[in-house]
Amino acid sequence: MRNESLTPEAVPSALAGFTPPAPSFPTSASFRHPAGTLVDKYGRHVTYLRLSITDRCDFRCSYCMAEEMTFLPRAQVLTLEECLRIASAFVDLGVTKVRVTGGEPLVRHNAIWLLEQIAGLPGLKELVITTNGSQLDRFSPALRAAGVKRINVSLDTLRADRFREITRVGDLRRVLRGLDAAQAAGFERIKVNTVMMRGANDDELIDLVEFAVERAIDIAFIEEMPLGEIGHARQSTYFSSQDALARLQTRFLLLPSTETSGGPARYWRIPGSATRVGFISPHSHNFCDTCNRVRITARGDLYPCLGNNDAVHLLPLLRAHPTDDGPLRAAIMHTMGIKAKGHDFSSQMDAPQVVRFMSMTGG
Ligand code: SAM
Ligand code: SF4
Repeated sequence: MRNESLTPEAVPSALAGFTPPAPSFPTSASFRHPAGTLVDKYGRHVTYLRLSITDRCDFRCSYCMAEEMTFLPRAQVLTLEECLRIASAFVDLGVTKVRVTGGEPLVRHNAIWLLEQIAGLPGLKELVITTNGSQLDRFSPALRAAGVKRINVSLDTLRADRFREITRVGDLRRVLRGLDAAQAAGFERIKVNTVMMRGANDDELIDLVEFAVERAIDIAFIEEMPLGEIGHARQSTYFSSQDALARLQTRFLLLPSTETSGGPARYWRIPGSATRVGFISPHSHNFCDTCNRVRITARGDLYPCLGNNDAVHLLPLLRAHPTDDGPLRAAIMHTMGIKAKGHDFSSQMDAPQVVRFMSMTGG
């Protein structure tokens, strides 16, 4: 990973020994569009922040994590107040949508407090969350009350034994109870996210869409991405969106839709149902041209591109300037200049050049 650090500055003693020095960046307005948004050097407006609030998770999904994971020590993880500072700086700089993710965001103590605070930031239009669903039976009403309008729930299979195999430790019944609770809580939209894996769940795509139709929720199928060394050859499990669409068309009439949820998914509608069927196709349909997002990891690394290793370390900067957000804003603007034009996942499937796990970057 590239360390953009330039000027060493004092960091709290709790961080001594492992935290890179606080970088400094010239204050520059060159990456602000006259409309007030952040704009990168390819002219793409960045209006969407994905904020990972923990690297920890109560599951160990085989495509996301290694079986044995080492998680970050607490001092290297952003505090919730630091998460809020970052979200607030981005919203001030024109970001209108924040997604809280992880690891599993709902295993972070006091996550609801953070969501309430972010929801109240002036200028924010949309606060959303991505969760594995394991805690939704407890937290759905509080999430809704905090101001979360839409949630994504990851669900790769409807079979309990497979669910346990894919997540290594998860309990399908609990996630289904969580989905019931989320539906009862009245979110504006609920979307199930399914990572497609040949030989693991590709025979369930039709069942999963039927499940979504019955519940009148959306579903998006995701092509597996080569992030982190996870112990299986991804090339062998890769299943494309085209194959998925062809399979679904044997059962459903799918009409292409121009609707968007502000992300890379392309949607199809099933006539007579409220369900939208989406495909997120980082391999077969590169969406980098319209990329509008950046990501913050749980340790405060700002990644302007999911498929690239360039990052700026915000944590030492935040701790070196506890009451001044100027350096933070300057670092964010600087990042607009290093946002890569695009990723190249297809050539990296079995030996990923992006070595961090998806649970670090939050999807
Ligand atoms: N724990 C939460 C969850 O599972 O929804 C949030 C974090 S998880 C990293 C966010 C999303 O990334 C999930 O929908 C997950 O299925 C997806 N994901 C994880 N690893 C992936 C990979 N290698 N390729 C594609 N999607 C992946
Ligand atoms: Fe945890 Fe989500 Fe990764 Fe599964 S995909 S291991 S639930 S962070």
